Amino acid sequence: MIDDKKIYICAIDFFIVNNIVENINRIREELPSAVQLIAISKTKPVEDIKTALTAGQRRFGENKALELVAKHEQIPDAEWHFVGHLQTNKVKYIAPFVTMIQTVDSFRLLAEINRQAQKYNRIIKCLLEVHIAQEEEKSGLRGDEIFRLLEMPEIGGLHNIRLCGLMAMATYTDDKSLIRSEFRQLADIHKQVKQRFFANDSAFCELSSGMTDDYRIAVEEGSTMVRIGSGIFGSR
Ligand SMILES: *Cc1c(COP(=O)(O)O)cnc(C)c1O
Repeated sequence: MIDDKKIYICAIDFFIVNNIVENINRIREELPSAVQLIAISKTKPVEDIKTALTAGQRRFGENKALELVAKHEQIPDAEWHFVGHLQTNKVKYIAPFVTMIQTVDSFRLLAEINRQAQKYNRIIKCLLEVHIAQEEEKSGLRGDEIFRLLEMPEIGGLHNIRLCGLMAMATYTDDKSLIRSEFRQLADIHKQVKQRFFANDSAFCELSSGMTDDYRIAVEEGSTMVRIGSGIFGSR
């Protein structure tokens, strides 16, 4: 006797697997070739990440340190980015392998990333998180705070981190013009910071902005790195 329920479940699996691959291919086709796609796999199972790997996706992002550690253990050869709020006491768990920490919002965190990276004789790429959204609870540094942080002479002594650019999240809203103006503001801060502190440093070139609902606007406004979760793996 054929088990109808089993066939039905297999069909759903096939559909989802195909969707992850299709979603990645569709988004990639749409992105300019210079824009990196970071697949945000938070809350999603390792199987989904393996499916994304079959589509040639190599860069993944997570927003919780221990979830990132667990997934890295199972998929060590992917390139892992951290995109959540990072407590200084958790840096040690991800320092042995993380490629980029996109959400640096204090000197204290940057110094701890440097200290841990040094232990493993690594250089960890970092982005400074900028607060551009209207929601107060979103994290990140204001424009003037970024300047103050980069003016600290101690920054020059951090040899095991590399500052590669800025990261931000826009306001969660349907108002496309507000989102666009926030991404413009971000690009403007990036330009000022680049001129003032990194004019001769080609590593400082990244602008990580744009998620499933706003990545097209972000790319139009200068994003070099989009972070897409639900648009690849489905809703959480
Ligand atoms: C979850 C998350 C994303 C992806 O969000 P989607 O809307 O699912 O694409 C991007 N960036 C950060 C920092 C996130 O936490």
